[in-house]
Amino acid sequence: MSPSDRNKPGSTLFMPRDNFYRSSIRNTRSQPFYITPVYSKMAVSKKRFSMLTLFVGICILYFGYDTYTNYLINQQLRELREDVDILLEISRTSIRPQSSQTTTYRIIGGENGQSGSEPNRESTALLQLNDLHISVKTSKKFHHQRLDIILRTWFSHAKNQIYFITDEEDEEFKLKTDGHLIISGCSNSHDRKALCCKMAMELDFFLSQNKKWFCHFDDDNYVNVWNLLDMLRGYDYAGQWYLGKISTNAAVELQLSDEDQNAVFQFATGGAGFCLSYCLVEKMKPLISGGKFMSIAKKTRAPDDVTVGYIVGHLLKVPLTVIERFHSHLEPLHLMDLETLKTQISFGYSTNPGNQMNRVSVSGWDTESDPTRFLSLDCVLRPDDEKRDCPTVPVSV
Ligand code: UDP
Ligand code: MN
Repeated sequence: MSPSDRNKPGSTLFMPRDNFYRSSIRNTRSQPFYITPVYSKMAVSKKRFSMLTLFVGICILYFGYDTYTNYLINQQLRELREDVDILLEISRTSIRPQSSQTTTYRIIGGENGQSGSEPNRESTALLQLNDLHISVKTSKKFHHQRLDIILRTWFSHAKNQIYFITDEEDEEFKLKTDGHLIISGCSNSHDRKALCCKMAMELDFFLSQNKKWFCHFDDDNYVNVWNLLDMLRGYDYAGQWYLGKISTNAAVELQLSDEDQNAVFQFATGGAGFCLSYCLVEKMKPLISGGKFMSIAKKTRAPDDVTVGYIVGHLLKVPLTVIERFHSHLEPLHLMDLETLKTQISFGYSTNPGNQMNRVSVSGWDTESDPTRFLSLDCVLRPDDEKRDCPTVPVSV
């Protein structure tokens, strides 16, 4: 472009900005109604164009990232499904009888049983407290508020079996729990991701122990460990058992983007506690270890207990066996009489501000010293020779 060309109308398209202003001024004098409007239009549309490019770029990046992560999850799930198929094939050939006769699953001493392999009477009869791994989910913010009462009550009945899965270091409670405080590194919030992260950790930790049963409870549960042990003696840890309490009667139905049919299954509510036999957790291992539990949780977008139900009930086809003796604070626990209380496995309490507390109704300590009633319940359930710290004249509530 020759210098004289530059002054022709419309020919300064790529002229630098300072030249643009100078030439505009210069040309305004000679051709005021022609050159200036063209430059202004170009400047505005250039700005619009770069804004649009930026916007399109952001959109491409956003959708590209989303598609990529979805691709990765689907890839992982495809692999998981292959694992499931292999597992199901193994269980068909090794657990079920070779004959064409259909397996009849039976429970000894169980309740509402639905699944599992034929109990091995020898292994169930020998089950001891030490065969249990009891995992309690908590958070540092609840150590004083909720762990103290557990440590003063049911922890003392199974000190070696109970582990607390928490989120942050706490020297005081590390000492109080005799080193049974496991730091998960998960976030300390109540969201789905944090709770699933802790559940994944609970299961991984169980797999590192050599125990026959995994039982999960929340930190607002009281657990009668003797009744828990007694109930588990009715099932065989070498079979596949998923024992717990459903929170709703209806089965859960999950709609997953890459599955043709909705996943329909029942899950045990974590708030009442649930147990998994060693054999079942071993079977779950390829689906849960090494971060896979979190991949599935991301896919289901469901809380930790529902995700366990999805893996066990839907992917592994092991149905939930309902244990009515597990209870969460969602049930009206004050209606339970003393004789029934003595036969149950777990209880909860809730402290809804403004509402009356939902808690078991049992005589013992006054409500100020024992708002959850766990101290009083523990006094009722403890063996007679361990009742020395209990009130001699129980206060009725
Ligand atoms: N929880 C947690 N982090 C939180 C809130 C709760 O780890 O920020 C744990 C808590 O310790 C308990 C379980 O999640 O074991 C259920 O919490 P909570 O009883 O407060 O609520 P719910 O789900 O019973 O209403
Ligand atoms: Mn709760």
